[in-house]
Amino acid sequence: MEDLYQILGVARDASQAEIKKAYRQLVRQYHPDTNRNNPEAEEKFKKINAAYSVLSDPEKRSRYDQFGTAEGGGNPFEGGFGGGFGDLFGDLFEQVFGGGMGMGGRRADPNAPRRGSDLEMGIGVTLLEAASGATRNLDIPRWDNCPDCHGTGAKPGTSPQTCTTCGGRGQVESVQRTPFGQFVSVTTCPRCQGKGKVIQERCETCSGRGQVRQNHKVEVKIPAGVETGTRLRITGEGEGGLNGGPHGDLFLVLEVEKHNDFERDGGDLHSRLVLTYPQAVLGTSVEIQTLIDGKEKIDVPAGTAHGRVLKVKGKGMPRLRGPRGRGDLYIHVFIDVPSKLTDKQKELVLELAKEMKVPVGAGEEGIFDKFKKLFD
Ligand SMILES: [Zn+2]
Ligand SMILES: [Zn+2]
Repeated sequence: MEDLYQILGVARDASQAEIKKAYRQLVRQYHPDTNRNNPEAEEKFKKINAAYSVLSDPEKRSRYDQFGTAEGGGNPFEGGFGGGFGDLFGDLFEQVFGGGMGMGGRRADPNAPRRGSDLEMGIGVTLLEAASGATRNLDIPRWDNCPDCHGTGAKPGTSPQTCTTCGGRGQVESVQRTPFGQFVSVTTCPRCQGKGKVIQERCETCSGRGQVRQNHKVEVKIPAGVETGTRLRITGEGEGGLNGGPHGDLFLVLEVEKHNDFERDGGDLHSRLVLTYPQAVLGTSVEIQTLIDGKEKIDVPAGTAHGRVLKVKGKGMPRLRGPRGRGDLYIHVFIDVPSKLTDKQKELVLELAKEMKVPVGAGEEGIFDKFKKLFD
C-alpha cells in the first residue's frame, strides 16, 4: 500500500494546515473536470481524497501512524470516491468563501464526546455451529479508557488545563492585511494540536493518550443459519470513545468451514448415500445421518439408479432471513461396486449376467476363464 503522506507529498510531522494546503493544490491539479478522459489522473484523485480523509482526521491519522491503517484492519482506499466527495466539496466551499468570512467555527468542539471507531474481525464457525447456533467467548484487542486517568491522559491527581493559547477552542485565528482587504485564517492551535487542553504531567499508564490497548472479553451469540460472509454487529464492543464518548461497534464477519459429509447450498444440504447393487435394484429402507437431527429412516424405492437424488424435507439449514423454517436435505445415491467378492457372490453375479444375457469378464482373463469352466 502506498504511504498516505507520500500521496499528499507532506512530511510525517506535517501540521493539519500543511496537509490541507497540499490537498487543495493536488485536488486542483488532478480534478476530473480538468483531466477529462485521463484514468491516471482519476486514480490519483481518488487516492488523494482517500489519503486526505485519513490524515485530516486526527484520530484516524494517529491510528494510521501507529498501525499503518486507519481502521481496524481496513483499507483507507476502500471509501474511495464516495467518502472523498463530501470532504472535497466542503473543502472547496471553505476555500472559496472561508477566508474572508471567518467561517472557522464550522469545526466541532475538540472536547466534545466522540464515539469510538468500529472494529471488524473474521471468525470461523463449523457447519454444525452455523446450523444450530453457538455462543463464543472472544478476546478482542481494543482501545479502552485508561483505568488510571479515566481517559484524561493526565497523571492521576492532576487534570488537563485549558490551553491558554487558543482558550480551549483548539484553533487560532490570524489576521492578514493585504491590498485586497483583511483576511482571517484559522489554523489548528500549535500548542495543544487542536485538543483545546494541555496536559502538564502525563499519566504513566497510557503515556498521556487517555486510552490503553487491552483485550476485552466479549460473549457472542451466533444465530442459527449464518453463512460465510454474514456480518454480525455487536453494539458497543468496538474501540473506546474519546472524551467520554460511547464505544464503537464490533462487526464479526463469519466464515463457515467445510464439512466432510455435508455440502451446503444456501438453505439446503447435500449428502451421499452408498447403496449396494441389490439394495438399489430391489429397494430398501436405510438409516441416514442428518446434520443436526440425528439419524433418520428413509425409503429407497426399487430401481433406484446411481446419481438419483432423494429429498428429505425440512432437514436442511435453518434460514436466517426470508421465510421461516428450514431448507431440505438432498441425498445423492452412489452404487457401490465391490472390488472383492466371495466365490459364492461371484457365482451369483455370473448367473445373473447369464440370465440377463450380458457378456461379462472381458479383459479380466483369469477370473473369466476360471468361472467359464465352472459353468460350461
Ligand atoms: Zn492514563
Ligand atoms: Zn490550544
